Amino acid sequence: MQFASTRHADESVDFPTALHRGLAPDGGLYHPTTDPNLKTLIRGFNRDTSFVEMCGSLTAALFPETYTREQAYRIAERAFPFSPAVSHLTDSLYFLELFHGPSCAFKDFGASFLATVMEDYLASTGERATILTATSGDTGSAVAHAFHNKQNIEVVILYPSGRVSPLQEKQLTTLTGNITAVEVQGSFDDCQRMVKEAFLDPELKERYQLTSANSINIGRLIPQSFYYIYAFSQLRERLHDEFLFCVPSGNFGNLTAGVLAWRWGMPANRFLAATNANDEVPKYLESGLYRPRPSIQTIANAMDVGDPSNFERLMQIFGNEHMAVTSMILGHSSSDDEIRDTMREYWTHHQVLLCPHTSAGVRAVDQARTNLSDGAAVVLATAHAGKFSEVVKDATGQDPEIPERLAKLLDLPKQAVLAENTLEALRNVLVDRFG
Ligand SMILES: *Cc1c(COP(=O)(O)O)cnc(C)c1O
Repeated sequence: MQFASTRHADESVDFPTALHRGLAPDGGLYHPTTDPNLKTLIRGFNRDTSFVEMCGSLTAALFPETYTREQAYRIAERAFPFSPAVSHLTDSLYFLELFHGPSCAFKDFGASFLATVMEDYLASTGERATILTATSGDTGSAVAHAFHNKQNIEVVILYPSGRVSPLQEKQLTTLTGNITAVEVQGSFDDCQRMVKEAFLDPELKERYQLTSANSINIGRLIPQSFYYIYAFSQLRERLHDEFLFCVPSGNFGNLTAGVLAWRWGMPANRFLAATNANDEVPKYLESGLYRPRPSIQTIANAMDVGDPSNFERLMQIFGNEHMAVTSMILGHSSSDDEIRDTMREYWTHHQVLLCPHTSAGVRAVDQARTNLSDGAAVVLATAHAGKFSEVVKDATGQDPEIPERLAKLLDLPKQAVLAENTLEALRNVLVDRFG
């Protein structure tokens, strides 16, 4: 599989290059230049196929020029000591649970695969790398867990002091080892600016081999396609009629990964993009006009994105044709009140606690039902309710259980380097830490 920039289709690069570069030199995003036909492979998977086994065969089938079969299986084994799970609430509502990884959210899948293939890449070239990233909470913890103890990789994560939840802060600051947490006296925007400035500083970039691991990296996107195929293989005997995947969306990486899986031959009738009040994409689907705006803060804050970067990739897949996009993708936006109402309703009627993002997904399905035939919906449960306990408690009156692997972090000591919100301060941290 080769990759080209969304802005210049003519130059294509292989997987390791796209992976290592992250963003294409022209500022575009890498996307696959062809759609491999994996229909036969996908139809060969069934309920007994383990997630690791499936990821191994998919990786081998997608990148035969980069990995041998054995290498592909080793990557899958190392990247995925955790697995998605499929559960069902009614005969027409299923969950694809993506919160069984170390940080209890779906970003673990992409981050872990990326960390694994990057470690291999660096071993093969003899290079080292420093991952530099800013987080407002969730992305950073998935990256920190995924890269922890990886060889030849240092990770520096900037987060805004006092603006992440206590649990999120513990997730960033208790791993230590090759993970350095920098507590910035400033906002998330300051953290992002400092990271950008560091990447633009040739001396810093060269000296520390700065690399990003952000969600636009193709090495994070591709493995997210795998769990859609897993859901299909688990449910295929039960899904006789139409079915759709509903994807709680912010930056639209997750949804794009599902559409890729469909392009490779995984059956699906529709995708339903569920957003919070940041409704640029549902609006686009309705009107054909895309109007990015500054993001709005909501209770489903991992989806607070006003100008989703993967929109460019999604449009590319559909030849930039509004009609083509709408033939496959539906959209629905929910307000905070609707998200809370749905959390309450599902607690009352089904005794399940939904995280606010998953709740937006369930809400979208309930609303779309009126327009759909009686098919089934598979909602991607993007995070564990225990990660968002304040919001869940506020909506339902219930304290969600906090998974053991998160709860035990609360007792560990926080270790962070305090820094001012300037590039100079970041430079000092890097020099102190790595010379
Ligand atoms: C990141 C995130 C989302 C949004 O996913 P995108 O790929 O950015 O659309 C949804 N839910 C949770 C819990 C997240 O962490």
